[in-house]
Amino acid sequence: MTSQDTMTTREQSLRAKVRELCADWDYEPRCDAWGGEADPAFSQELGRRGLLALTWPKDLGGAAESNLTRLAVTEELLRAGAPVSYHWAGERQIGPTLIRHGSRALQDEFCPRLARAEISFALGMSEPDAGSDLAAVRTTATRTDEGWVINGRKVWTSGAHFADYLYVLARTSKSEDRHAGLSEFVVDTSAPGVHVQPIIGMDGGHHFNEIVFDEVHVPDRWLIGTEGHGWQQVISQLAFERGGPERFLSMYPLLGAVLDTGVLDDTDRAALRGLTAQLTVLRSLARNIAADLDAGRSPVAQAATSKYLGNRLELAMLDFVRPLLSRCDGRVRALFDAAVIASPKSGLRGGAAPVMLSIVTKEMQ
Ligand SMILES: Cc1cc2nc3c(=O)[nH]c(=O)nc-3n(C[C@H](O)[C@H](O)[C@H](O)COP(=O)(O)OP(=O)(O)OC[C@H]3O[C@@H](n4cnc5c(N)ncnc54)[C@H](O)[C@@H]3O)c2cc1C
Repeated sequence: MTSQDTMTTREQSLRAKVRELCADWDYEPRCDAWGGEADPAFSQELGRRGLLALTWPKDLGGAAESNLTRLAVTEELLRAGAPVSYHWAGERQIGPTLIRHGSRALQDEFCPRLARAEISFALGMSEPDAGSDLAAVRTTATRTDEGWVINGRKVWTSGAHFADYLYVLARTSKSEDRHAGLSEFVVDTSAPGVHVQPIIGMDGGHHFNEIVFDEVHVPDRWLIGTEGHGWQQVISQLAFERGGPERFLSMYPLLGAVLDTGVLDDTDRAALRGLTAQLTVLRSLARNIAADLDAGRSPVAQAATSKYLGNRLELAMLDFVRPLLSRCDGRVRALFDAAVIASPKSGLRGGAAPVMLSIVTKEMQ
């Protein structure tokens, strides 16, 4: 699926390294693997082989490379359906957020360990009444002599049951303007007063959690960036969250498995060309987003576009595979079943589809 012409030698070498590790590793390729079971050992091996935190400064455990270069690694991992969930959120957006907004001490405390996948982060943004409308966050952080005390509730927190730390968006002051008075924090999941409760999915899987914060003490040094600037900071974080290839490659392991079976006839191949065209456009958009991130910009509308169109492409991949199932083996059928169960997630996580459209529309006005 890669175009050799547009890849640098470095990108080709990184892709080869990822393929080599995936070939050696004992795992079952999955759709939506970045939202699946955690395999800390796999993530740590990626870190050892220099395949994590590529864009971060060298003195924070990175390689000072571009987001375009990193894209080669993330695309390959998703293509292979590799077990990446342990490091995904931390490497994708928490490290970059700390590097953009955090104090040097905060960066030193967390980035090198994130780069080695020694620790995992979960994202505490959504609340029972604050999902699409994130500015409605009601969790509070109140200043004390030593730092902050957090009270409130987060919901749909993916991977909080294996995460060591949480990113938490909380209200630090009341204001007429709902976008003012928000701040970002790091919270230790094992701190007294943090209660992580599982939410079991309809498929019986444990992916989400609800988290209650009951008088949770957080040191002042774990405030990320500037008090009261949480809204501006989280918006720039969402470009990292929404603009990556996981928004259109989560179902690729299924498509790849179908192609491997060699069951396509001429009609199927004609339909496949439509999917390939969409995939090519989205990959090109991901490269534009990566280039914008490299330039220090926050490509919020482009990321929302990628997320919206990527979701549609993933659903189209399922529609493409469905009529082929009777010609496929049990492995493809198992991948398909799991992909169908995972498919409703894509339209919601990271922001609901209508909200993505509204972001894009605002940008055009
Ligand atoms: C798989 C998955 C993983 C997730 N992981 C995390 C996580 O790790 N951390 C975290 O903080 N959150 C997480 N979430 C939560 C996710 O961010 C929210 O589900 C999402 O923002 C939508 O919020 P909501 O569920 O409260 O739905 P609501 O905001 O209540 O929206 C419900 C429906 O109303 C529609 N709607 C809402 N507002 C508008 C509008 N302005 N215009 C038009 N239509 C609208 C939408 O179509 C949506 O389907 C996850 C969600 C999923 C599905």
